[in-house]
Amino acid sequence: AKESGSNDCLLYREDWSDASLARLTLQHEMYRAIERKEFFLMYQPQYDLMTGTIIGVEALLRWMHPERGLIPPGEFISLAEESGMIVEIGEWVLQEACRQNKEWQDRGLPPMPVSVNLSIRQFLQQDLTERIAAILESTGLEPKYLDLEITESMTMDVAHVARCLAELTKLGVGISIDDFGTGYSSFHYLKSFPIDRLKIDRSFVRDIQQDPSDAEIVAAIIAMAHNLNIQVIAEGVETEEQMEFLRKHQCDEMQGYYRSPPVSSQSIEQLLSA
Ligand code: C2E
Ligand code: CA
Ligand code: CA
Ligand code: CA
Repeated sequence: AKESGSNDCLLYREDWSDASLARLTLQHEMYRAIERKEFFLMYQPQYDLMTGTIIGVEALLRWMHPERGLIPPGEFISLAEESGMIVEIGEWVLQEACRQNKEWQDRGLPPMPVSVNLSIRQFLQQDLTERIAAILESTGLEPKYLDLEITESMTMDVAHVARCLAELTKLGVGISIDDFGTGYSSFHYLKSFPIDRLKIDRSFVRDIQQDPSDAEIVAAIIAMAHNLNIQVIAEGVETEEQMEFLRKHQCDEMQGYYRSPPVSSQSIEQLLSA
């Protein structure tokens, strides 16, 4: 028993140091990834539930690692947040999404907003509005064609959030609350902040058919948002039944595998020119 105990301990320590080494290595490689052009964006269409047409796209970050292959954001965003690299990466995402959207418009595709996910670290920057204004200026994209997705964890410091959102709204960009319903303060900030749209979190949409309380919650969120003049989009819609439920309850928009997964910019061009 003693022997196996010490073995466990040894194994555990090896695992632990392997894991931190891997994290350190990845973090180090991330520093070079921007200049080596290893990041790229996929775009997931957002659909009007009534007409079925595409009314926007969400930009989703991917990392094509030279040896490891494609790394999804779930495996490196939190690491980038810890190291602070997310600010630089996030700036690249904003720049690239705006540039791409302007290019689509210049090619004559129907103009629509591109949604960009903002990290809390970016949101806490004092000069966020100036940075975004500069990116819009340099790419030539009109502010109304950029939508910022923020999450509830970002709304901790109410005074800062209020000031920041007021500035961004004045600039003319859209504000969406991502993963709505998963944080603490959902209802509080709906009435306190200038929000254009909320995205019902995938976890509620997933069980709409099986779980009556999720169905109730989704219906209630839609009704309440509409009373406050806020648009509603449901994320993670995977089935026709989910889509029908949302349509029946007057949800405005949907995004999810049922209509389209995230796709390349070229595929978006084909979808938009079809
Ligand atoms: P999110 O903002 O909630 O993005 C939606 C995620 O759900 C995406 O995963 C998307 O591919 C996935 N998804 C879309 N439709 C469906 C569906 O019908 N079913 C299921 N099961 N999943 C669906 P992805 O691209 O792996 O991104 C994961 C998360 O990484 C994002 O969640 C977001 O929090 C973060 N992220 C992605 N890009 C960026 C970025 O540029 N900046 C920051 N700060 N975070 C990002
Ligand atoms: Ca999002
Ligand atoms: Ca989300
Ligand atoms: Ca989510």
